[in-house]
Amino acid sequence: MTKVRRQPERTCVACGVKRPKRELFRVVRAPSGSVSFDASGKAQGRGAYLCGEAACLARATARLAHALETLVSEEVMADVRTQIEAHRDAPVHGRAGAQGGAASGRR
Ligand SMILES: [Zn+2]
Repeated sequence: MTKVRRQPERTCVACGVKRPKRELFRVVRAPSGSVSFDASGKAQGRGAYLCGEAACLARATARLAHALETLVSEEVMADVRTQIEAHRDAPVHGRAGAQGGAASGRR
C-alpha cells in the first residue's frame, strides 16, 4: 500500500486502539458546550475518537464524557451511533483508484 507514515494517529477512547485519524470517528464538544458527531473531522472544539466497533459504541458514553470533560446525553449518543453506523457501512475512503505517487512504496 501507499506509504502513509505521516498520518497522525488517534486513539479510540473506548478500547484504546490506535488508528490513523481518518479511520476513526470524531466526536466533538463545540465551544458552546454541545456535543455532536463530527463528520468532517475538522469541527472546532475538543475532539474524541471512536473506532466504530459495536463494543466501543456500547460503552462510549462514559468514555466520551470523560474525554470531552462534559456530560454526554443518551440523545447525543444515539445520534453518534447512528452516524457512525451509517459511515461505517459506506465506502468512506474510496481506495479503488490509484491515488498516484505510490510507485516507490511497493511491498
Ligand atoms: Zn474502539
